[in-house]
Amino acid sequence: MIIAIDGPAASGKGTLAKRLAAYYGYRHLDTGVMYRAVAHVMLTAGLDLNDEVKAAEIAIRLDTRTFADPALKSQAVGSAASVVSALPKVREALVRFQREFAASPPGAVLDGRDIGTVICPDAEVKIYVVADPRIRAHRRTLEARGRGEAADEDAVLADILARDERDQKRSIAPLKQAPDAYLLDNSHLDIEGGVRAAIDIVEAVRAGRQRV
Ligand code: C5P
Repeated sequence: MIIAIDGPAASGKGTLAKRLAAYYGYRHLDTGVMYRAVAHVMLTAGLDLNDEVKAAEIAIRLDTRTFADPALKSQAVGSAASVVSALPKVREALVRFQREFAASPPGAVLDGRDIGTVICPDAEVKIYVVADPRIRAHRRTLEARGRGEAADEDAVLADILARDERDQKRSIAPLKQAPDAYLLDNSHLDIEGGVRAAIDIVEAVRAGRQRV
């Protein structure tokens, strides 16, 4: 089974996807980290983030071992990722890896922006996770401070809103809810509550029931 988790920045979908994968014994792929890895190489090399040829070359040669680098988690890398992710050749370079990952047994949970719409349109379960932007900014600020980064909540909110807009308005694979995705509003749920709600959705789909 393939479970597609999409949604805007800092909606909590990453943790939810990881926990869902552990619960079902599936493999998990955070596709955002792939765009972050490309952006990080571009930033470190001082390259123009809109240089599509260079960015695509980096994407083609991406080393999965770099995905665990804590530097990829920063707000700056996240924003840069949303610039490089709008470049068609970068997306083209990453699609195959993501589809192959999704297709390999025993099952997979992929999280990103376009999993249910573009990467795995036939995923058995699609969940679109949203949360109030102010709540997302608050959670992201606490996370950043926890990593020792200085973070101003208003600046984080502005960054999140700018990123959402860029992700939603780009011409290729824009962020949007797939028509057959279940909406999960994570604003007032803690991690356990979000995971429980996601498991309920998966179980309802498995049982062939309609969501109540
Ligand atoms: O989810 P995360 O914050 O790690 O994603 C960073 C950026 O990567 C997003 O803002 C988005 O622009 C891009 N992305 C994407 N498609 C995906 C996953 C992430 O365009 N499937």
